[in-house]
Amino acid sequence: MTQRVWNFSAGPGMLPLSVLEEAQRDLLALPGVGMSVLEISHRSKWFDAIIEEAEQNLRDLLRIPPHYKVLFLQGGASLQFAMVPMNLLGGGSADYIVTGSWGEKAYKEAVKVGKARLAWNGKAENYTRIPRPDELELDPNAAYVHFTSNETIQGVQFPAEPPVGDRPLVCDASSDFLSRPIPIERYALIYAGAQKNAGPAGVTIVIIREDMLERTPENMPAMLDYRLQAENRSLYNTPPVFAIYMVMLVTRWLRDTIGGLERMYQINREKANLLYEVIDQSEGFYRGHANPEYRSIMNVTWRLPSEELEKEFLKEAEAHQLYELKGHRSVGGCRASIYNAMPLEGVRALREFMLDFWRRKA
Ligand SMILES: *Cc1c(COP(=O)(O)O)cnc(C)c1O
Repeated sequence: MTQRVWNFSAGPGMLPLSVLEEAQRDLLALPGVGMSVLEISHRSKWFDAIIEEAEQNLRDLLRIPPHYKVLFLQGGASLQFAMVPMNLLGGGSADYIVTGSWGEKAYKEAVKVGKARLAWNGKAENYTRIPRPDELELDPNAAYVHFTSNETIQGVQFPAEPPVGDRPLVCDASSDFLSRPIPIERYALIYAGAQKNAGPAGVTIVIIREDMLERTPENMPAMLDYRLQAENRSLYNTPPVFAIYMVMLVTRWLRDTIGGLERMYQINREKANLLYEVIDQSEGFYRGHANPEYRSIMNVTWRLPSEELEKEFLKEAEAHQLYELKGHRSVGGCRASIYNAMPLEGVRALREFMLDFWRRKA
């Protein structure tokens, strides 16, 4: 087999090796089925078992209460930027807390669909932090409040839900979904593209409180209609069968091999600390982008003293099997995405390389 490298890509990200091996082993014929998961009907009893287990695993891991629906949709988190306001605005206005590039995109889509206002915008500070509660300018009648729990590009993460009173809270959790336990009851809707933490690209998971389904206007195009998707258990049309199968395997791995989200959170914090420690101890050689209080445990972002050194760092890193560490062009520098599937061993390898590079170049 070709050698696997440490893949620090921001998305699609690494998948657990055991999950890839299982998918490979069963690709030609699912046990007891005799057909590939790529060939089975989405109306078959086999796929029923797959989508039911994927949902049940998510319910177990996140302790999703019965009055929430779990949907498996297409179009990525980016389609949710439009679907959320199309379904939930109900002629009103929504508030957006913008702490990075994805939140900005979500806000811009909402403005195309209806009324949306900025409850806080971190752009002037280059998206390095989240707002203090007293900085939030919330509309008392907001149809919902949208935030991005983890800004993948800047590496800025909410340590906890923003305080929004009883306004319905909507979250783009694409890049920290399943990385830690969250109190689902605090949310009206959570969405996440699978390709960061939950599976391959092609499926987006939406967790929606049932009362929110009543807001969908009549005559909504079918594919964009949460209520219709919920009524049809995400099977209105052909869903992304393979991607949902992979979500089933990844969530099974999280539950059975890792041991649940509390344990995953512990490991993720340990991994992030290994890298932030190096940044903090490097006497300014590595400069973190995010304010230390709001540093992401999923995407670690930092700069080096010059762009030349950054280029050198990235090139040498690849010689050490450390790949995809280039920061997003809007932030520059480096970014290590250390999603659930990145083992401690990979993070330790990056840490050792960072320490060595610093000692040689500082
Ligand atoms: C990756 C990402 C998106 C975009 O996801 P797509 O599935 O490509 O549309 C949106 N929000 C966040 C926070 C992301 O990390």
